[in-house]
Amino acid sequence: MQFIDLKKQYQTLCAPINERIQAVLEHGQYIMGPEVRELESRLEACTDAKHCITAASGTEALLISLMALGIKPGDEVITTPFTFVATAEVIVLLGATPVFVDIEPDTGNMDASLIEMAITSRTRAIMPVSLYGQPADMDEINAIAARHGNIPVIEDAAQSFGATYKGRKSCNLSTIGCTSFFPSKPLGCYGDGGAIFTNDDALAQACREIRVHGQSKRYVHTRIGVGGRMDTLQCAIVLAKLERFDWEIEQRLAIGQRYNELMDQYGIGRIAQRADRTSVFAQYTILVDDREAMQARLHEAGIPTAVHYPIPLNEQPAYRDLCAPMPTPKAATMAKCVMSLPMSPYLAGADQSRVVAALRKK
Ligand SMILES: *Cc1c(COP(=O)(O)O)cnc(C)c1O
Repeated sequence: MQFIDLKKQYQTLCAPINERIQAVLEHGQYIMGPEVRELESRLEACTDAKHCITAASGTEALLISLMALGIKPGDEVITTPFTFVATAEVIVLLGATPVFVDIEPDTGNMDASLIEMAITSRTRAIMPVSLYGQPADMDEINAIAARHGNIPVIEDAAQSFGATYKGRKSCNLSTIGCTSFFPSKPLGCYGDGGAIFTNDDALAQACREIRVHGQSKRYVHTRIGVGGRMDTLQCAIVLAKLERFDWEIEQRLAIGQRYNELMDQYGIGRIAQRADRTSVFAQYTILVDDREAMQARLHEAGIPTAVHYPIPLNEQPAYRDLCAPMPTPKAATMAKCVMSLPMSPYLAGADQSRVVAALRKK
């Protein structure tokens, strides 16, 4: 059994993927070829966002977004400690300080009710993460940001492309949304890739320029930028995968729902789902007390598992001395008991049953 079955996906989609790759090899525009803009407009349609700007990775998308907002040394950015390191890394790279607020103990997403206490005169952005594919409480976060002088809100939607919040699309829920096309994400390419979404014309223009070395015209550098483009080939692969993406999302919802029902039936703790949003289950994550023993037992049964994430960022060696001392006991507790199970749109029902049977075996 695969943790994420990318091989099955390729077998299903190999004709359109091969065709798309072949087309790029033949036209030869490997950098900023026509597939780049084609993908951006498809993704604008998928999310209803006015602008999509592809980027070299999800990390690069976050970095470019913070640069477009003018984040600089001395600034503070409020975020969550219970996430992949890239969320905080880009803040530190710009010389700003990550201010970690604690999470909701049931969803693992940033607890909006704690944000206000963390806002200071130096707060320049709020960066919630839509963890495991379920959007954070974005309207609540946006409302707090609006009350405090319209602080920009960046949704780290690296895990949640395709998810919804009150009927609206993740990536298009705040000032800026950033996603990742890392192969194992819900919409993945075959290398690195990512995208920025916004409805703000000036921010979109800034992101487009920063992505290509701050260029407004060829060899005219109006700002400091990065080499942050997504390859044409990777855009072509995502375009091919979009053909089946709606079906894949339906599968993710159905498989996640079945997991939820089975966990509830057998009294196994799991990440809670809010009624006003859907998750795309980038990970299917349960909560267990004896994680090491459980992982060993599943490993024995040939079932791969993973831990997202074992150490909150404010306890990481490289981060613990950089951040403001804010207690985050719920993140610490969750980090000790999360365990992710095999999940993909191609996970067979029988395999899913086998996973749950192995969890229950004493
Ligand atoms: C994967 C991920 C990223 C980084 O994306 P890359 O494309 O790997 O750079 C950032 N934030 C979160 C929450 C992620 O899961």
